[in-house]
Amino acid sequence: MNRWIDVHTHLNMLEITPAEAVRRARAAGVERLITIGTQPGDHALVQQLAQDLGDEVYCSLGVHPHDADKYSAAVGQSIREGLRNPKVLAVAEIGLDYYYDSSPRDVQREAFAQQLQIALDTNMPVEIHTRDAEADTVDILKGFGGKITGLMHCFTGTQWLADECLKLGLNLSFSGVLTFRNADPLRAVCRSVPLDRLHVETDAPFLAPVPMRGKKNEPAFVVHTAELVAQLHGVSVAELATQTRANALRLFSRLKW
Ligand SMILES: [Zn+2]
Ligand SMILES: [Zn+2]
Repeated sequence: MNRWIDVHTHLNMLEITPAEAVRRARAAGVERLITIGTQPGDHALVQQLAQDLGDEVYCSLGVHPHDADKYSAAVGQSIREGLRNPKVLAVAEIGLDYYYDSSPRDVQREAFAQQLQIALDTNMPVEIHTRDAEADTVDILKGFGGKITGLMHCFTGTQWLADECLKLGLNLSFSGVLTFRNADPLRAVCRSVPLDRLHVETDAPFLAPVPMRGKKNEPAFVVHTAELVAQLHGVSVAELATQTRANALRLFSRLKW
């Protein structure tokens, strides 16, 4: 059976229980998953899930651009302390979202830069969320001189952004959006990403892939996105599973698998 990792999911937001989601993931070959912290109020919860649900579940700590106004020096300090937990794999999710503009843009940029600094200081990878903010995202990352490691999560950007991120040493992660009917430009971007630089994710409960569209997404469904990535790259699904597993193990140094 192929062995997968869902590098970005929200176990605490699903319709089914986290334990049921992990059981169904495992049955589909999804042996590892990272449940993502989004704001100070869920950091204890995602760590608890990672602790309680067994070897399959890891987590991340970070403040999402929507909640950037909840970021403070004290929150930053608490993230630094949380990163000592061996079940925490990354600083995430962090970034910029100028589509929703839920927090002021200057506040988003500051929270993003501060959290990149934490990742750099602690030698941890990041997972970046960016929407309608490509130029500023690249500018801020360039300020760190290519020393940030990690991935662009749920990549839906342009070829320009993909190329800039690859040059900066970041990997790209594709979600169910890749399978959507109108996603031809994104599929072209996916083809251009070297196989050793890509990941797959669900971002569950959002963005269920075809053929599960209309259902609530869950980690087990990452396989559908993976099948399309394999097809776009002209490799077997088994080869893609081996490659994405190796990519995750290389990026997330604490991942045990
Ligand atoms: Zn996101
Ligand atoms: Zn997310």
